[in-house]
Amino acid sequence: MHKPRILIVEDEAHIRRFVKIALEKGGMTINEADSVEAALIDSACRDPELVIVDLGLPDGDGKNLIRELRSWSEVPIVVLSAREHEREKVEALDAGADDYLTKPFGVPELLARVRAQLRRIARINPAGSASPRLRFGDVRIDMATCEVSKGDALVHLTRTEFRLLAALAKGEGKVLTHRQLLEDVWGTGCADRLHYLRIYMANLRQKLEDDPARPKHFITELQVGYRLMGLED
Ligand code: CA
Repeated sequence: MHKPRILIVEDEAHIRRFVKIALEKGGMTINEADSVEAALIDSACRDPELVIVDLGLPDGDGKNLIRELRSWSEVPIVVLSAREHEREKVEALDAGADDYLTKPFGVPELLARVRAQLRRIARINPAGSASPRLRFGDVRIDMATCEVSKGDALVHLTRTEFRLLAALAKGEGKVLTHRQLLEDVWGTGCADRLHYLRIYMANLRQKLEDDPARPKHFITELQVGYRLMGLED
């Protein structure tokens, strides 16, 4: 069986060890780096399939490491952030990270996040082009015709609602920050119009969730952004 190669970039030895043991039990192969420099060398030489990055590293900032990696690699990046670095977490996502965990976190959460990213990248890569038809729950989306249905009924979405849905679907399993969504849907210069996003997200939940008050697919990441969960092939 294929064992995904994961690189852990973390300077605190006990956290590195905790993550390593958890992922090895989950059937993955682990490389470790305790600095930005070691992480860049390992990424270039061993081509990891996923990188876990702590934001506070001794020789530099995890965000710069993410920017550097993103300049030549699409490898999924999961950020480890301490509570006092909440704002930096958003900056790390804007820099190109795909998801985050706030310390302290548990093993099931860690494994779930890592597996979700590995699935996402597997879906994008070997098939080449992503399928134009997507579904989650009883919702079907045809990206080519922009047709959306829930159960047997066609659902009418406005153009903006569809653009927001498409932006969320494109990043499935990935946290998208408020800034990323606003710029993707409304264009650059709109990053401060958070109220737009709230209104249109409420519309999508109203139209596509079974219970809009308890969304299962359009998930809020407090202070950070949103993600779409449960997308199937
Ligand atoms: Ca650290």
